[in-house]
Amino acid sequence: MTKSDRWIVVTGAGGFIGGHLVADLLRRGERRLRAVDCKPLDAWHQVHDGVDNRVMDLSRRETCEQVCAGASRVYQLAADMGGMGFIETHKASCMLSVLIDTHMLLAARDCGVERFFYASSACVYAADKQKDPRVTALREEDAYPAMAEDGYGWEKLFSERMGRHFREDFGLETRIARYHNVYGPLGSWEGGREKAPAAICRKVVEAVLSREHQIEIWGNGEQTRSFLYIDDCVEGTQRIVDSSCSEPLNLGSSELVSINQLVGLAEEIAGVRLTRYYAPDAPVGVAGRNSDNTRLRSVTDWEPSISLRQGLERTYKWIYDAYLRRYGGRLGPRSAPPRGAHTRNR
Ligand code: NAD
Repeated sequence: MTKSDRWIVVTGAGGFIGGHLVADLLRRGERRLRAVDCKPLDAWHQVHDGVDNRVMDLSRRETCEQVCAGASRVYQLAADMGGMGFIETHKASCMLSVLIDTHMLLAARDCGVERFFYASSACVYAADKQKDPRVTALREEDAYPAMAEDGYGWEKLFSERMGRHFREDFGLETRIARYHNVYGPLGSWEGGREKAPAAICRKVVEAVLSREHQIEIWGNGEQTRSFLYIDDCVEGTQRIVDSSCSEPLNLGSSELVSINQLVGLAEEIAGVRLTRYYAPDAPVGVAGRNSDNTRLRSVTDWEPSISLRQGLERTYKWIYDAYLRRYGGRLGPRSAPPRGAHTRNR
């Protein structure tokens, strides 16, 4: 089998980032693409024609072997995950993604895969370096001494490390990105797995449609993050895969904002001002986190550049349209402001 006859495999392809990655590979002219996810096809965010789309559970070793057969490159994105509300309440499920990572690495090794990409996360970083909203951006070495996000972050850190040892012991070429809060169209925006930018856009849409002009914010809204637009995420992923660097690399924006600022931006885009209700006991994660891109720049000669304003405009518009398509101008199921939530003047 020549190199061009071999398959490129994207796992988690029915998910948000995986769907965009398959689209990007098609745009780059790749034709032997295999897209795999355990969700039924009609639940995938994107299904692309001309791709070997497979519905399979990758926590099983024999499935991973079928998926890796004849493959030269693997993008391993399949994981049981969601936003803070999901990962703080599903720690065991998040850690069980280790079955997918382990079986995919073993299958890739046994099938002679040439390059294996692993989607890690900023949740691997040590909690004690993220206690202040005015953060010092995280460098790759800040993941150690290890004290990752409980559940999800520990699984990611373990699997990163397993990738490293598969390279050292078995010669499997692994590449690893630590994604920082990726957002954009064609992802989850309701149902419990959505992340902050999508959840905030949806709540603003609901506030507009209901004319109630109020919004619930988790925590005190002062927690800070950077948000990476999906197009930058896909471009950075390809550059990391093509690079010679086998150490984990941050892939994040360095534009730091508080959640209150993110809400303010969504309000501006929608042309509304909302009364804010705060839910102090809701899951919020660490106090502050930003991405130091020094190593990413030096390896790839590139860094993310799409502004939060630009990315959020596209995301808000897509969620607004998706909301109307799903609920036809009526309101979907909403959770009431939690008990203990209090209003604060703007
Ligand atoms: P997503 O939930 O939209 O996609 C993950 C996909 O994996 C889902 O479609 C899910 O059905 C699939 N999956 C789960 N278990 C599976 C199994 N046993 N077999 C086959 N498929 C399975 O998430 P995403 O936002 O697209 O994230 C993709 C990857 O990037 C994940 O590994 C995630 O941990 C990582 N990541 C994402 C972010 C982010 O902000 N979105 C941040 C850090 C890391």
